[in-house]
Amino acid sequence: MDLQLLHQTLAARGEPRFRARQIWAWAAKGANGYEEMTNLPAPLRDALSRELPFSSLALQSEAHANDGTVKALFATIDGRPLEAVLMRYRDGRRSICVSSQSGCPLTCTFCATGSMKFGRNLTASEIVDQALHFRKIESSARRDIPSRPSTSIGARRAPITHCVFMGMGEPMLNLDAVLAACERLPDIGITHRRTTISTVGWIPGIERLSEQDMPLRLALSLHAADDALRSELMPVNERYPLAEVVEACRAFYARKRRRVFVEYVMLAGVNDRYEQALALARALAPTREGEPKMFKVNLIPYNPTDSSYRGSSRESIAAFRTALEAHGIPATVRLTRGRDIDAACGQLAARRG
Ligand code: SAH
Repeated sequence: MDLQLLHQTLAARGEPRFRARQIWAWAAKGANGYEEMTNLPAPLRDALSRELPFSSLALQSEAHANDGTVKALFATIDGRPLEAVLMRYRDGRRSICVSSQSGCPLTCTFCATGSMKFGRNLTASEIVDQALHFRKIESSARRDIPSRPSTSIGARRAPITHCVFMGMGEPMLNLDAVLAACERLPDIGITHRRTTISTVGWIPGIERLSEQDMPLRLALSLHAADDALRSELMPVNERYPLAEVVEACRAFYARKRRRVFVEYVMLAGVNDRYEQALALARALAPTREGEPKMFKVNLIPYNPTDSSYRGSSRESIAAFRTALEAHGIPATVRLTRGRDIDAACGQLAARRG
């Protein structure tokens, strides 16, 4: 919902100021349209239905994976594609992965989004509308199909609890809109503490994130602990080299007291050797005695894209993790979700299907 346009439309009709709040409250609770907003006068509901699109995004297609993951492909009003993903977990968590841009101007060599054409930054409304879409399907499904078996995770409905900016795009290149969207997420049920902004290491963005008040989480896509390899995988490293990026994350921790998640995609024979785990542990180690642990590494099994990389085996991922932990760096292996529908990390490239 374009909230700015909503305010303008209401003002032009001479509606009282509380109307915008009423309408937003309905939308945030997962309403399907203005017609459900029973505390609005009927003529206003009709007028809004005619004049103001309920969502700034048109759903183009939706794919459902066997594990309950849902990927939605949307188009903006001007026809730009973007994708967002809902992940359902057995413990009841519902996490959405949202896009901040249509396409991405960065060209990380292993990521499918990097190979599609960059479109433009998304507006705050376009970001929020991705969350509202999933809020809507989770709440209407709860009403409509109470009799579905509750054993399958896909069928158990629950409110959305987490949001990660790990869809298409680089959030730090569109930080105003991303932060404006984050301001709205708690109304949908997603607190700031459960919202994570992931970056390639765009230092000015990390600095701005440190300085603003919301207790958002920071994730850093690192993928290699030496500059030569990192530059090969992520050309942005030429601009913001490893040591400086890690330093910016330490400053973020010092300011916010929130541990930084380090994402590391495991590529066979490229960044998964024992010495590379040691180099990563060194890069992230405390710089002085008694310093708290500032980083937690999330090892990401590589999801196939059109690139020529191969994913590391389960065994090499486990060994890499053991090496990190033996050197004092907490590490987990990310569960892969939605791979059968190309909804997993790095697979978002707006292919139809
Ligand atoms: N531009 C931001 C936000 C996108 S996050 C960032 O890079 O952090 C997308 C995450 O998925 C990043 O950690 C990225 O490195 C990871 N990723 C990209 N391609 C992948 C692939 N093919 N398999 C697994 N993870 C991938």
